[in-house]
Amino acid sequence: MKIIAGNWKMNGSRDALSNMITALRDVDTENTIILCVPYTMLGVESDRVHMGAQDVSAHDHGAFTGEISANMISDTGAKYVIVGHSERRAYHNETNDIVRQKATMALSNGLTPIICVGETMDEKQAGKTMEIIESGVRESVPTDATGNIIIAYEPRWAIGAGLTPTDTEIATAHKLIADTLTSMGLGGTPVLYGASVKGSNAAQIMSIPNVDGVLVGGASLKPDDFIPIITSVK
Ligand code: PEP
Repeated sequence: MKIIAGNWKMNGSRDALSNMITALRDVDTENTIILCVPYTMLGVESDRVHMGAQDVSAHDHGAFTGEISANMISDTGAKYVIVGHSERRAYHNETNDIVRQKATMALSNGLTPIICVGETMDEKQAGKTMEIIESGVRESVPTDATGNIIIAYEPRWAIGAGLTPTDTEIATAHKLIADTLTSMGLGGTPVLYGASVKGSNAAQIMSIPNVDGVLVGGASLKPDDFIPIITSVK
């Protein structure tokens, strides 16, 4: 059983979400399906799909105009929230420290944070991939996390680019993440792979050791693209 999570980013509509949920109703799978959608689309109930947000405030409540707290996300019935996505790190200067604060907020409000880590192209070319991944995990995961977390390894240079690392590169990264989590007392934490996953490469990627599922951006927007990913593995 794998975890298949979609990240709609700033796309879609409530109608589109309703169509997706209807389309997923009859899909024959035991995989866990999560859809992380814009805040305005949360509140939808489904037996099949678990709902999630894409970011959360590092603050509990108060004068933070425009921000959404973990408690508010939880209040919609959502169970997950992505933290530290590449686009948040790039466009909103989110550091591992901020990501850890957000993950802590998520955990203390009953949400499972999907904590993203991964290297940029510059970091890859500088030979720093392993260092960035390990520090990303050590610094972004709350020290007192009790296991109710998910990690997503997303090589930042491959997101939305139609590029994927080699199977060996994915295997090496996921082994490092699994070992790092074990050394932090969090062995067994699911680790997803994300970046340019589609129906044609999903099964192969999820056959790599320590890949417990996928985080899917563009290919999660339409049932015709998303369902083949979900059904590509048992
Ligand atoms: C993402 O942004 O989390 C992602 C995986 O995007 P894509 O699948 O479009 O590369």
